[in-house]
Amino acid sequence: MPTNHQLRLYNSLGRRTEDFVPAGQTTGLYSCGPTVYSFPHLGNMRAYVFADTLRRALRWQGTAVRHVVNITDVGHAVADSDTGEDKLEVAAARERRSVLDIAAFYTDAFFVDLAALNILPADEYPRASAYVEQMIEFAAKLDKDGFTYQLPSGLYFDTSKDPGYGELAQMSAEGQLEAARLEYVEGRRRKTDFALWRAEDPGQRRVLRWDSPWGWGAPGWHLECSVMSMALLGEHFDMHTGGVDHRELHHVNEIAQSQAFLGDGRPWVRYWLHNEFLQLGAQKMAKSAGGAPRLADLTEAGYHPMAYRLFLLGGHYRSQLDFTPAAIDAAQATLRRLITRIQPLQPLPPVETRAAAQAATEGDPAAQRLLDTIDEAIAADLSTPKILAALQDALREPALTPDGQRAVIAAADALLGLGLATLAPADLEHRRALADLSGEEKRAIEELVADRTQARQDKDWARADQIRAQLDELGVDLTDTPDGPVWQLR
Ligand SMILES: [Zn+2]
Repeated sequence: MPTNHQLRLYNSLGRRTEDFVPAGQTTGLYSCGPTVYSFPHLGNMRAYVFADTLRRALRWQGTAVRHVVNITDVGHAVADSDTGEDKLEVAAARERRSVLDIAAFYTDAFFVDLAALNILPADEYPRASAYVEQMIEFAAKLDKDGFTYQLPSGLYFDTSKDPGYGELAQMSAEGQLEAARLEYVEGRRRKTDFALWRAEDPGQRRVLRWDSPWGWGAPGWHLECSVMSMALLGEHFDMHTGGVDHRELHHVNEIAQSQAFLGDGRPWVRYWLHNEFLQLGAQKMAKSAGGAPRLADLTEAGYHPMAYRLFLLGGHYRSQLDFTPAAIDAAQATLRRLITRIQPLQPLPPVETRAAAQAATEGDPAAQRLLDTIDEAIAADLSTPKILAALQDALREPALTPDGQRAVIAAADALLGLGLATLAPADLEHRRALADLSGEEKRAIEELVADRTQARQDKDWARADQIRAQLDELGVDLTDTPDGPVWQLR
């Protein structure tokens, strides 16, 4: 009988690697999602590839998961502060579009990137704007229980009422303030106190606004995640993930208000997992730095989205990664080699769990040895670099039976999520060809796109459809956006 390795994860709460033991039948997992005011950049997407790896690890072990990823479409102030304008409202003014348009457009863009990166869909993607009533009720309970005070700028959580405040950040309040560079707020008693409700400034009228016991306004960003996660996963749940930038403030505040709300003396969430930053040169890419590259920039340059996923998995999620042209080139070359070797072995067996992989490798000791290496690697705080190494070994190991080899490759990819069961070398070649389009070819495509736009304006639908078919034949995918059509090569 093969041994099953116990899943061990690095818990930011306490800063140590611990056995993961689910509290119930289904593991509740909440991942902080995007604020949908701009395109997600490559650094943002690292958090979702990480959460996806965690989900795949749980599936591998046979653990059922309920995964919730929120969409913040209101309440997130510029610079993550307590006062000032919402990111979405600023974007709406800049782009001369409605806030709802902005939210819908950038939510779609987020989903496009999730799909391109082969990220398993979450069970729920709650929109913050749909939970404002519950947020007001939550804040009202904290208010009634004496955890708050009111200022003209809103309702604030009084962190002096929480003796364990900041435990997750493991820093003194002073150090934490330094890290978070909190703004000055008139009347705030402690710098760590944070807004549960952000009231409108007198004379200023928000676009998205709700009435509350503390005046017209919008919920605070931290409050949103506590309310949506409890609404969809129950008061206590197993795991909460996010980028490491959330560890010092956003998650600290989520914990403070949630434990005050529950008041049962138990930790609200037992496991807190954080992925490290992606570095672009010397600059971190977690925050919107304007002009940070997107996944679409990579695909336009001829890289397959899976090359980016492979690049991320080549490092441990808790290590900072340097995104450089050489690194993504190397990932694309590795992906090409993998696919070239694996395609002749297709179809791969449908192996998603450890139990299925063990059954599929019975009687093949070499395959079971590699499988054990893979199981040990994922159980050791999701060591994806070691799984990639085992995958390479599976392609070289002469003692493997053909079926054992297929099963090991499928098992590795159930955890890596590179889509190796279906990718073919041509998928990469095609993208390479698009990068090599000549200026003339590009101009020809642009002209066709412009002709179609004209045909649509003339309401000549037959001609518009005919041009779209022509573009389709050239391998051009066209998407109509509020800013006009956007095209890319398949
Ligand atoms: Zn959050």
